[in-house]
Formats: sequence, structure tokens, C-alpha cells
Amino acid sequence: MPENLQTRCVIAGGGPAGMMAGYLVARAGVQVVVLEKHADFNRDFRGDTIHPSTLELMHELGLLDEFLKQPHQEVRELRAVVNGQAVPTADFTKLPTRCKFIAFMPQWDFLNFLSAHAKEFPNFQLLMQHEVVDLIFENGRVIGVRAKTSRGELEIRADLVIGADGRHSIIQALAGFERREFGVPIDVLWMRISKRPGDPEQSFGFFEHGKLFVMLDRGDYWQCGFVIPKGGFDEIKARGLPQFQNDIVGFAEFLRDRATELDDWSKIRLLTVQINRLRDWCREGLLCIGDSAHAMSPAGGVGINLAIQDAVATANLLAEKLRRGPVSVDELRKVQNRREWPTRLIQRMQVFIHHYVVTGQPSNRGNSLPFMLRLLKWFPVLRQLPARFIGLGPRPEHFRSPTAVQASKLSNC
Ligand SMILES: Cc1cc2nc3c(=O)[nH]c(=O)nc-3n(C[C@H](O)[C@H](O)[C@H](O)COP(=O)(O)OP(=O)(O)OC[C@H]3O[C@@H](n4cnc5c(N)ncnc54)[C@H](O)[C@@H]3O)c2cc1C
Repeated sequence: MPENLQTRCVIAGGGPAGMMAGYLVARAGVQVVVLEKHADFNRDFRGDTIHPSTLELMHELGLLDEFLKQPHQEVRELRAVVNGQAVPTADFTKLPTRCKFIAFMPQWDFLNFLSAHAKEFPNFQLLMQHEVVDLIFENGRVIGVRAKTSRGELEIRADLVIGADGRHSIIQALAGFERREFGVPIDVLWMRISKRPGDPEQSFGFFEHGKLFVMLDRGDYWQCGFVIPKGGFDEIKARGLPQFQNDIVGFAEFLRDRATELDDWSKIRLLTVQINRLRDWCREGLLCIGDSAHAMSPAGGVGINLAIQDAVATANLLAEKLRRGPVSVDELRKVQNRREWPTRLIQRMQVFIHHYVVTGQPSNRGNSLPFMLRLLKWFPVLRQLPARFIGLGPRPEHFRSPTAVQASKLSNC
């Protein structure tokens, strides 16, 4: 017999969307259980960007000072190396936020920080190594989930199930949601190369004739992403490892003395990139947010921000009602109505970037810069536009749901 648990809200997935939603609804006094299938948050393929809008949110939650004590890099200007030329692309210093920078921090530090604070609420529970494998339905309404655990199966019944299980979401599939796919011409090879004293300090993006190589500073190593044409990994393998190492050195000459660390294809992971969006993000008893509702590509480094903004909107719109009981599908739809257009806009931008900036195909423009990048180089004021788009995103959310203390006062009225 499976074990049983009853709660107000159960969240599938402890990524940025799930952990932030869990933290916020717990803070508002809602009983919540977050289920994460892995044993920890330490996985290589997490993005490392904490955007100014998220930092602003941390300030609104009273967590900013402590958060910034975690090891991180503050990047006030994004620079890309395009066809050998360094081009400033985004200037965050004029943003109307407290923190006028992107904080680069390993995402597992961010998630550990958030979960540590969420656990301060007695009504919050995080269950690691709990993989959601099924939804429970009653008269067409979702009333809970089944999870696989090391001790067997667990059934959790809840007034609301939130699907925050990322771009390979099982929740959206089990719910029967219709998904629209937007073709993506690229995939990413993901690998580590050691960091040495004397290496440049900042994280990088190198663009060369439609190819892109990204390096994220993870303290003692560089987390590298090599963008390839979709389905092109077999061809790259056929050309051999020495050629691949040479390609990397072609982007970042300072890696010449250690590109050979990549001496086996098992050290190089293929990450498939997708962009898609659900037509409906909700049905009775269930709401999908973050990549589970709309898978984002790494282009522009905005998916984490968007996932967190979804979580904030969810808590703002639903937490108070959820504290009192089930919420109707019309209430759930308000989250989709609020977050869908910012999502559409960003996804359009990502599709544009894939097709016109990072194609994986050689360009015939020689070493000249694309026109838009030349504009950014000539007119510094224009760099504030990408900064707003990346740093805040369209329709940035602010924390509005009540804290548990306010909430208990409200319920006593
Ligand atoms: C290669 C690559 C690099 C990227 N880099 C960046 C970047 O630098 N900056 C940026 O902003 N965006 C980046 N993105 C996009 C970003 O990763 C996503 O948009 C963002 O992680 C979405 O957050 P999420 O919480 O919705 O989903 P996820 O981060 O995918 O989290 C989902 C969580 O759910 C868990 N889970 C999955 N299935 C289950 C289950 N059945 N039961 C329980 N738990 C489950 C997973 O283990 C995971 O912890 C990148 C994307 C890719 C593909």
C-alpha cells in the first residue's frame, strides 16, 4: 500500500520556479510540499544567472544582504567577443533596481539558500528523491500526485498541484495539455575545463560566424557550453576529439594548455534545446509554471528569471485564496493570463536569436560585426535596452502575497 500525505499545495520540481513558489506560498501561510526527484541541487547543467529582478525580489523579501554574502560575481556590463572583437552588449548600471548587476552564482547555491529559508516555515516541506510519476484524478479534477521514493510509492493529495518539473515535464504530459513547439536549430555541448590562476575573471560569450562558446566561472573550473547545429553531435564526434579541442582553443586561446582535459566524449554532455509553450497552463486542480509551461532556450539567459517571475505571480494571485481552500480554474487561469505575454515576447526574441545570431552555420560576412552589434558599440545608451530585457524582463513581478504573520491576523478577523 502506498503511503499517504494530505496538504494544501504540492509542487512537482525543486528548480527556480518550484522552490520560489514553495517559499512564497509557505511564507503566506499555505501548507506546501515540494517534491524534487534528485538527491541534491548539484547538477552541472543548471544556468548560473541571478537577474536584477530576482535580486530586487530578494530585497523585498528581506533576504538580499544575506544572499549577497554567498560567493558570486557581479557583472554590470555584458560583453561578447564577436568575430574576435569585444562588444559591450548590455549595460545594467542604469536599471531602476537596487542591484544594478547580474549575480553569477552556481544555481545550486541559490536553491540551497532558498530552501534553507523556506524550511524556517513549519508549513513548508521539501522532499528530495521524490519523483512524481503520476497524477491522481477525481471526476476530472487533479487531486494529487503519486511519487516514487526510496521507500516505495507515496500519494500526496492536495487542493492544488503545481507542475514546476522543467522542460521534460511529466506533469504536462499526464495532464494532457496541448503543446506548441517552436523549431530550434541548435543544441548545446556542456563540459568542464579547469580554471587556472591568471585566467580572465569574467564569464564569457564568444561568437564566431554563427557559432557560440560560453564560459561560466564556477570557482575552480569553467563550465563551458558549445553551441552546435541540432543533431550535429555525431558529425563532431566523427571529426575526432583533437579537432574539437582545437575548435575550443579557436574561441579561447588561453585554454590551449588544458583543452586536452577533454580526452573522452563521456566528459561532454549533449543538452537538447527546445522552445515550446502550452496552450493551457492549467485545469481544475493543476497549474504549470516555468519551463513546464514554456520551455526556454539558454539564448539571452532569461529562462530562470521568467520561471521565478511565474512563481511570484502564482503566489501573488493564489496564495491568500489557497490558504482558505481550493482555487477555481478561473483563478488559476489568471496566472497564465498575466505571464503569457511576457513569455511569448521572450520566446519570440529567442527564436530570432537562434535564426539570425546563433545558427551554428558559418556566415559569409567576413569579420564584420552584425549591424545591431555595431549600433550597440557606437551608441552606449542603446545597451540599456538589452539590459532591461535580460535584467528585468517584460512585466517584472513584485512580491505582494501576505506573510504568514499577516495571514494569521487576516484569518483571525
Ligand atoms: C543548456 C541550457 C543552459 C541554460 N542556461 C541558462 C542561463 O544561464 N540563464 C537562464 O536564465 N536560463 C538558462 N537556461 C534556461 C533555464 O535553465 C530554464 O528556463 C529554467 O531552469 C527553468 O526553471 P524551472 O524551475 O521551470 O525548471 P528546471 O530548472 O528545469 O527545474 C525543474 C526541476 O524539477 C525536477 N524534476 C523534473 N521532473 C521531476 C519529477 N517528475 N518529479 C520531481 N521533480 C522533478 C528537476 O530535477 C529540476 O530540479 C538554460 C537552458 C539550457 C537548456
